[in-house]
Amino acid sequence: MIGKYERLSISDGDLDGRDENNSIEHQRSLIDEFLASKAEFRGIEAEEYVDDGYSGKNFDRPGFRKMMESVKSGRIDTIIVKDFTRFGRENTEVGKYLEQIFPVLGIRFIAINNNYDSSAYYSESAQGMDETVSSLVSTFHRRDVGKRLHTANEEKWKQGYSTSGSAPFGYLQDPERKGRYVLDPPAAEIVRKIFDLALEGCTTSQIAHRLNEEKVPIASEYNRIYGIQGKERQYSLTPDKIWNAGKVWKILTTYEYTGAIVLGKSRVIVPGRTVIRKNAPRDQYVTENAHEAIVTHEEFERAQGVIQYRTKGEYLGKKDFPLRSKIRCGHCHRVMAHDLGAAEPVVWCRDGREMPQYSNCPSGQYSIRLIEKQVFQALREWLELLVCLKEMVGAEPSGGSEQLKDSLSPELMQLLTLAPDLLREKALTKEAVKLTIDRVYVHGENMKRLKGNVEVRFRFEKEIATRFQ
Ligand SMILES: [Zn+2]
Repeated sequence: MIGKYERLSISDGDLDGRDENNSIEHQRSLIDEFLASKAEFRGIEAEEYVDDGYSGKNFDRPGFRKMMESVKSGRIDTIIVKDFTRFGRENTEVGKYLEQIFPVLGIRFIAINNNYDSSAYYSESAQGMDETVSSLVSTFHRRDVGKRLHTANEEKWKQGYSTSGSAPFGYLQDPERKGRYVLDPPAAEIVRKIFDLALEGCTTSQIAHRLNEEKVPIASEYNRIYGIQGKERQYSLTPDKIWNAGKVWKILTTYEYTGAIVLGKSRVIVPGRTVIRKNAPRDQYVTENAHEAIVTHEEFERAQGVIQYRTKGEYLGKKDFPLRSKIRCGHCHRVMAHDLGAAEPVVWCRDGREMPQYSNCPSGQYSIRLIEKQVFQALREWLELLVCLKEMVGAEPSGGSEQLKDSLSPELMQLLTLAPDLLREKALTKEAVKLTIDRVYVHGENMKRLKGNVEVRFRFEKEIATRFQ
């Protein structure tokens, strides 16, 4: 059975947070719509657990407790929420449930708006994964470096049986042998074509171009069109469903295409961005000849040659700048790629630059220096406003001011205290960005005319707007 969990708390600022609508009704209809849209959930009973008026800062909530009872008794095996904050607001605690408790209990966890599905996470690459999810999950991977969790799953992995309920693109779950894969011929043909092009010496970008030209569907689109169950059919953040170098790269590095089943993969996440790596071989469970191969081992090894550009420093997060991982494409809303090594450091939207004829994203490169200048300007205005608010909070006669103070979140109060100091900075600093800036969107094409095309979203914007207007 599916457990639908909904939570609302005025004290957490849920009704004036970043989400337009956090009401229970909205959460319920979003979940119901999601469930109705997925063939795999059809006919499966769902039960609702609601905590109306309970803070997400702890787990002492009646609805939550009741749901966990159902989890323990085996009544529900899937939990679905609108987003992580509905489940809880304490990242470490939420992470503990996601990474330790639920996997052990075999619970599938879905956070619709975070694009997170635990069954997809364990088997699919973290590509396209929402930032919230990666930072949440990374907390755990960092903590558990060298100390892999011994879960009930590991026994099955040793024997070469997957526990995730999904299979790599090109394969389907074998209905006869649970945890093994069978070939999905039309998808396997796409995979084979990608390897063929790589073996002919095409780069990942060239391959992506070719696939787009021939209107070959990307994996999630293919799964949606063919109604394939239990596979990645993510609610993609990107409006354009096209192949790009990253997606091709993902296919070319999937060892399963040689016929092996690989379990216990892990991801090392470099703070600020997701970098996908395999666990050391000794920590993986590889079973050769588990299913029909799409490529030979020799072909697989040769194909790795075309994707070496991925190991360039730019992907390893060695260099840094204050707005790292904050600058997003105004069209697809994904974090833009950057090159700090160039004479003029720049950012660009990968799809827009690599796939200009298929993507509606801007294809230009933008100067990081110019963006920083615009952001710094906006930040100063924002800080000046905060300083005014600080005076308001501090200057009001007793009573009124206390009330006002109480109505502000502790984080915002802290920022108000720091605002005058931050205002004294002469340039954009990492610290100021961390405290104040949520996201920066870049719109339009022309980097010379960036003014007005840089949209800065500050933290606490909504909180302030609703309290003081
Ligand atoms: Zn874009």
